Amino acid sequence: MDLRGLRRSHPAQYPFLVTSFNHRSAVVSLSRHLVTFFRLFGVVSGNYCVFEFICQQQCRHSHARAGLFHTPHGSVATPRFMPVGTLANVKTLTPEHLKAAGAEMVLANTYHLHLQPGEDIVAAAGGLHRFMGWQGPILTDSGGFQVFSLSEMRQISDAGVVFRSPHDGQMIELSPERAIHIQEQLGADVIMAFDECPPYPASREAIIQASRRTLHWLERCIAAKQREDQALFGIVQGGVYGDLRIECATTMLAFDLPGYAIGGVSVGEPNAAMHEIVTLTAPLLPAHKPRYLMGVGTHLEMLRAIAAGVDLFDCVIPTRLARHGCAIVQGVRWNLKNAQFRRDYAPLDATCPCYTCRTFSRAYLSHLVRAKELLAYTLLSIHNVTELIRFTQAARQAILEQRFPSFAAEWEQRLCNASAND
Ligand SMILES: [Zn+2]
Repeated sequence: MDLRGLRRSHPAQYPFLVTSFNHRSAVVSLSRHLVTFFRLFGVVSGNYCVFEFICQQQCRHSHARAGLFHTPHGSVATPRFMPVGTLANVKTLTPEHLKAAGAEMVLANTYHLHLQPGEDIVAAAGGLHRFMGWQGPILTDSGGFQVFSLSEMRQISDAGVVFRSPHDGQMIELSPERAIHIQEQLGADVIMAFDECPPYPASREAIIQASRRTLHWLERCIAAKQREDQALFGIVQGGVYGDLRIECATTMLAFDLPGYAIGGVSVGEPNAAMHEIVTLTAPLLPAHKPRYLMGVGTHLEMLRAIAAGVDLFDCVIPTRLARHGCAIVQGVRWNLKNAQFRRDYAPLDATCPCYTCRTFSRAYLSHLVRAKELLAYTLLSIHNVTELIRFTQAARQAILEQRFPSFAAEWEQRLCNASAND
């Protein structure tokens, strides 16, 4: 039975199944397959790029997998943490720092770049890769999350969202079409669908409404998308309601997108609720497509999500903590202002290969933090970003070697002990 039939026969169970995308989805899917076919035989030599996810190893005891996600600007070895460069820069770090930290794909943000400097300025520079000097893969968030979490005076309707610019007070409209157009101007490899990201807590009715809108907006994003060298990921919503997550995810699969994200998590809900939702949702997403958990970047949450089959993560936490004088060492947060570090001449983490750990002592970093020297933020960001990427690389290695369960158990124990001693 197709989705239309499903909705007709089970209207109560499937309240937000969209009914009008079947034909378009079929056409999109068919045209993709045709282009892939012709490309394989050298008939299409234009800039059409196939985004491909290859699962290299599947853990025998969990949903964890190691994979390779191919994009026009290179491949991403998963699981992988992606540093966040909101305004086309990962705060205090240069592209060289990012490369040395092991970064493969970095994020930039549609909402923030639209406000400043404006997508036309980025497009005139030749797109984000040239503008920010990062030649690797880039992903842009659609701005949905920021509109709903940051902007004031917003009006939401099925058409889109109108909000007041925090820069000059002007009213700005963001719709699925506009979000796609901006992201096409920015030119990232992966672009995200414009979604409604409800806060926590939210009523079941509000979540149903947000999920329904997210699906309708996804349809409009697909229709608006013109560039073939960008992969559009859909974002599964559904709050902390398992049945709504299942329904949103299964409905979204019919769009046959090149990747899927789990959104609306890490918005204030308890960690246990997030874990439950991720464990439930990730395995529903297609095994041959990348799965991206949005806004999550702590060791324990990433570890559990990797076990559930998630491939990609992003979070501002490593650079934000650095700006507060904090380092993440083996998954534990250290405040370098603490007196214990003033005369501690050991490296931050003797096992870490980053420039900061190879070159400086905890005492020196503590001094820079206390003196509020700008170098402190760069050095701590170098380490924190390296730490999170290394953690996902270690998980990947454990999956490749079929020893992920013992890796996960060891880290789970270590992280739980550390939080108990906090
Ligand atoms: Zn380090």
